Amino acid sequence: MTEAVEYDVVVLGGGPAGENIADRTRAAGLSTALVESELVGGECSYWACIPSKALLRPVLARAEALRVPGLAGVVRGPLEAAAVFAHRDYWTANWKDEGQIGWLDSVGVHLYRGHGRLYGIRKVAVSSPEGEHHVLSARHAVVVATGTRAVIPDLPGIAGARPWTSREATSAQEVPGRLLIVGGSVVAAEMATAWQGLGSQVTVLVRGSRLLPRMEPFAGELVADALREAGAVVRTGVAVEAVVRDGSTGPVTVVLEGGETLEGDELLMATGRSPRTEDIGLDTVGLTPGEWIGVDDSCRVPGHDWLYAVGDVNHRALLTHQGKYQARIAGAAIGARATGAPSLDTAPWGAHVATADTRAVPQVVFTDPEAASVGLSLAEAERAGHRVRAVDYDLGKVSGAGLYADGYRGRARMVVDLEREVLLGVTFVGPGAAELLHAATVAVAGQVPVDRLWHAVPAFPTISEVWLRLLEAYRDGAAG
Ligand SMILES: Cc1cc2nc3c(=O)[nH]c(=O)nc-3n(C[C@H](O)[C@H](O)[C@H](O)COP(=O)(O)OP(=O)(O)OC[C@H]3O[C@@H](n4cnc5c(N)ncnc54)[C@H](O)[C@@H]3O)c2cc1C
Repeated sequence: MTEAVEYDVVVLGGGPAGENIADRTRAAGLSTALVESELVGGECSYWACIPSKALLRPVLARAEALRVPGLAGVVRGPLEAAAVFAHRDYWTANWKDEGQIGWLDSVGVHLYRGHGRLYGIRKVAVSSPEGEHHVLSARHAVVVATGTRAVIPDLPGIAGARPWTSREATSAQEVPGRLLIVGGSVVAAEMATAWQGLGSQVTVLVRGSRLLPRMEPFAGELVADALREAGAVVRTGVAVEAVVRDGSTGPVTVVLEGGETLEGDELLMATGRSPRTEDIGLDTVGLTPGEWIGVDDSCRVPGHDWLYAVGDVNHRALLTHQGKYQARIAGAAIGARATGAPSLDTAPWGAHVATADTRAVPQVVFTDPEAASVGLSLAEAERAGHRVRAVDYDLGKVSGAGLYADGYRGRARMVVDLEREVLLGVTFVGPGAAELLHAATVAVAGQVPVDRLWHAVPAFPTISEVWLRLLEAYRDGAAG
């Protein structure tokens, strides 16, 4: 090992969370190094949010256009897969990170390419692909932002079957004739929508009773209905016991519990994520390799005043915008602590304390229909012991929705805390629902009293008029 190079802050992992915290610590005047083993920009930029949404946008736009009078005849043909892939390749910069590196340079963050590991207190060792070794020493903080990787269950035959993970599902250059998808959560639902729309015959195999199990039950039900109408097969309550693929190009067969077999050309295992912490030197600082890294609300690891973890790896909310939010919080906290701020609690608007990532997490599932939620579902609110009432409304009855698309189908729910009369959670499922979500996020994060929401008047004729209908339904129910 060479002599340690000293920085104020060393960030391990250059995904959205790592990039953002490096930006914030630089803005606080702290010298910052960032270590990245693959591509600066992380999973989100190359194999997750960006390519998946680039594949989905044409699929959703086509589905919506088919419901708009006068357009249906024009768009009836299939999507041009090559053009969709070109669009996706553009948005992933063809899996090159020069643009991100230019940005790192512009903000003065020093990049080390290679695999980084904690190397005792305040130190990170980096092994570059060229075989160079560096030791980086941090005066104030080391931030772990190494993200997650796909989990593939250890089923008989799985290795030889060369299944897709989310990486292959978002970067494939050909449309498989038949795509089997194992899993029922966001990645499974989005990739089923994308590939069915691109021309595959998709079969989704869900172990549980519905798609999107973490959202309100109607979300998964509406998405499954739409997938079936688009020609996909969605089966619930099925367990895969083994997988078989003969040769390098042959079809893949999954064996279900009970012995039934299903054949496909590709198999996507959308079966969860695990933290990328098994080989980052956690043992050198008394933590357990392979585990999620627990943090306090400033994203600092308890018992280690110099160690922080932001983004997926701390398991608070596995979403890019939440990782970036944590990066802003932790960056401000590191900056404040480096200048000897006596207490972070005195910050005027909680700048150093992450709260939204546990209380008001917005999430959009870009399926057809889109499913968008923030805060708690009814079941979560009840489990947490709140006295609540759920108010539902059929989005199809809102005139803005009817104008948006013929036969608009969707549903909205708000979960009201009856003690304080504020919203604990809101869910919208329907075409275009993604863009409705931020108003709900403001209401939930801001704990806006229901009485006050009456004065946030939605424009006519927009889908947002559902707010009025939900408030009326709440008032009428409350009065009755
Ligand atoms: C298919 C899919 C679609 C998604 N869509 C969305 C979406 O639409 N919206 C949304 O908000 N979220 C979405 N997500 C989740 C989102 O991708 C993650 O929340 C986000 O990428 C987490 O950012 P991160 O910076 O914590 O980690 P990552 O993006 O995983 O980045 C971690 C980085 O650390 C690097 N690294 C790891 N170990 C080391 C090491 N030892 N040394 C050096 N570098 C290392 C990795 O190479 C990587 O670049 C999606 C996820 C998937 C799988």
